[in-house]
Amino acid sequence: MSNMLTQPPVYMVKRLCSRNRFLVVVVLLACFTPVYPASINAIKWAKSDTSVQFFITPSQRVGYLTENLLAENGYFVLELLGITQNYGTKWIEVKEPYLSRVLVQSDGDRLKFFFYPPVMTNMSIDYDRTKKDTLVVTITPFLKNPEGCKVIIIDPGHGGKSRGARSAYKINGKYVWEKDVVLQMSYKLKRLIDQSPGYVARLTRTDDSYVGLSERVELSRKLGGDLFVSIHCNAVRGFRATNARGIEFYCWSHRGTDSETGKFLESLENEEMLDISQTDSNGQLKKVLTNLLKEELQVQKQESLNLCSMLNASFKKDSYFLKYNRGIKEARFKVLANYEMPATLIEVGFISNPYEAKLLIDSDFQWRACRAIFAGIQGYFSSKRLTVTAE
Ligand SMILES: [Zn+2]
Repeated sequence: MSNMLTQPPVYMVKRLCSRNRFLVVVVLLACFTPVYPASINAIKWAKSDTSVQFFITPSQRVGYLTENLLAENGYFVLELLGITQNYGTKWIEVKEPYLSRVLVQSDGDRLKFFFYPPVMTNMSIDYDRTKKDTLVVTITPFLKNPEGCKVIIIDPGHGGKSRGARSAYKINGKYVWEKDVVLQMSYKLKRLIDQSPGYVARLTRTDDSYVGLSERVELSRKLGGDLFVSIHCNAVRGFRATNARGIEFYCWSHRGTDSETGKFLESLENEEMLDISQTDSNGQLKKVLTNLLKEELQVQKQESLNLCSMLNASFKKDSYFLKYNRGIKEARFKVLANYEMPATLIEVGFISNPYEAKLLIDSDFQWRACRAIFAGIQGYFSSKRLTVTAE
């Protein structure tokens, strides 16, 4: 009851469309009693084709802090300092292309705003140049790839309904699933890449959602990828499960693999056995089977092999991966049917092996593996530059 009294009601005041196709929705957080030193006078937002702007007008200019937790938690945080008015907890449904909703939460003398965009976006914030006490939060879709940067597409295997392989035993009371391990590793790899000048990383999935295999290939092109790296964990069935361990690097093979273990892996990673006669839902496989595209794929295959050997060399500098190294292999993994960029699938370790499963969930081990991947990627690009210079 007391909560209701302290929370000012949210009024939807006006909805108007301007000439410039700007939709402006004004919401006032009305304050019945003037509060000193600071409260919120108004909140509104406006959208254009390329952005959503969220305007917050405190009763006076206040300091603020921001934190980008989009990758980890799916939101940006803005904290306004010195807002003594208690607004409790409120959801504002924005429902715009780059901003779904905003959670407003009072926390002592801070007022926190959690911005939830439906897709990966950028957020910038500043005081309005004209209305000096209004904070403007601008949310835009991901920037185009920076000029001259190598765009690395990181593909965390599986996701959502496709859980991938599972640990043989429970670890700390629960089974470990491949989809979770590879997402953690992908974010680490992304961080390494994004911190490095000249490189930028894009993910094919950012959370525990299912993305089709052909969609991932399609996405890698749309995102302007220069290189595709799919991250997976290996598994074998039966009595060998406890013994098999080590890293494997894969590139596309039209024929597929001959070995029994390789065939099992193909079925695992493709979620269904790919049969040449089998029709693919969006024709991707069919496309890669035409002669012309097969040739293009062959060109990329050489590049992919070069990439795999650079990755392998990089991993061999690590004592563990030097010892447990299963080398470069070929398989008909659907995500590798990419004729626009070199593509590899790395089976970082065997989740079916109880010892390796524990390593795979270890943060330090994940960082080690990611550093080796990025060093291999850099090795690939620098060797390519050398070849070009030599010609
Ligand atoms: Zn997998």
